[in-house]
Amino acid sequence: RRAAARAAAHEPGRMADGGRIEVFANVGSLADAVAATASGAEGCGLLRTEFLFLDRETPPDEDEQHRQYQAIASALEGRPLIVRTLDVGGDKDAPYLALPTEENPALGLRGVRVSLWRPQLLRAQLRAILRVKPIGQCRIMIPMVSGLDELRAVRAVLDEARRDLGVVERVELGVMVETPAAALTADLLAAEADFLSIGTNDLTQYTLAMDRGNAELAPRIDALHPAVLRLIAQTTQGARRHGRWVGVCGGLAADPAAAPILIGLGVTELSATASAVPEIKALVRRLKRDACEALAERALLQPSAEAVRAMAQTFLTGAI
Ligand code: PEP
Ligand code: MG
Repeated sequence: RRAAARAAAHEPGRMADGGRIEVFANVGSLADAVAATASGAEGCGLLRTEFLFLDRETPPDEDEQHRQYQAIASALEGRPLIVRTLDVGGDKDAPYLALPTEENPALGLRGVRVSLWRPQLLRAQLRAILRVKPIGQCRIMIPMVSGLDELRAVRAVLDEARRDLGVVERVELGVMVETPAAALTADLLAAEADFLSIGTNDLTQYTLAMDRGNAELAPRIDALHPAVLRLIAQTTQGARRHGRWVGVCGGLAADPAAAPILIGLGVTELSATASAVPEIKALVRRLKRDACEALAERALLQPSAEAVRAMAQTFLTGAI
């Protein structure tokens, strides 16, 4: 039986009614990529590239980045690799960037705003990714997007880098939905993005206006808050209009209570920490879309995160 369970862990994520849900892993180092493959993850849904940029005196150059991205792609043995462009600023400082001192760093220069403020840094990172072989394995994802102009600006730099490097293949470019602005305009973003991936850690922080690092508020910061769920619903609706897929790569993707609700809202990819992948995949196998959709519809009408959690627990007890 153990051998059977192990074999099942490496099967594609599939629901009880045959519906396909991709179960990916979040990766923040080469060791994580190795762990992701071992866990049965079907790919990497979020490569946090910050690990290459923090705790050092100068930024990694194009060649150094390329070596790391190539090693991670190889460790994934052909599975898809979604590389997120640099997400510093906010609580992650890189002194050599000389980011301005801000009163509200979480609302200041961070994520894609830093990349567009230092375009030579973005260019080097995109070139390092584009040089990975086979390039078809890679997709690129932009953090902290709050408007279509940012997607367009990054695409312009990407197109230029592709031309310079003679990369003829199209490389998918997606955006992270981490701000209420991105969720509310998901239809506009999805018209030009190849996919959307919801970062529930930041989306929750910005929706509830509660600092994700604040210990006092921590017990009340729950991504299953109906306000967050309504923004996720708006995101999947906007994406559906343009035939784009929506994933979740924030902490909520590793939460078993959330999986049926997210699937019911139309999410088709869950990217969790590698250690959570087997459990999430096993759970997905027991779910049916109709039941998940009915659950999600009721979740959107609950008055609080606690009420959503209670409902999800009852559902899971019945389903499993
Ligand atoms: C998120 O915000 O949910 C996310 C996945 O990005 P990070 O946790 O790296 O900010
Ligand atoms: Mg984030």
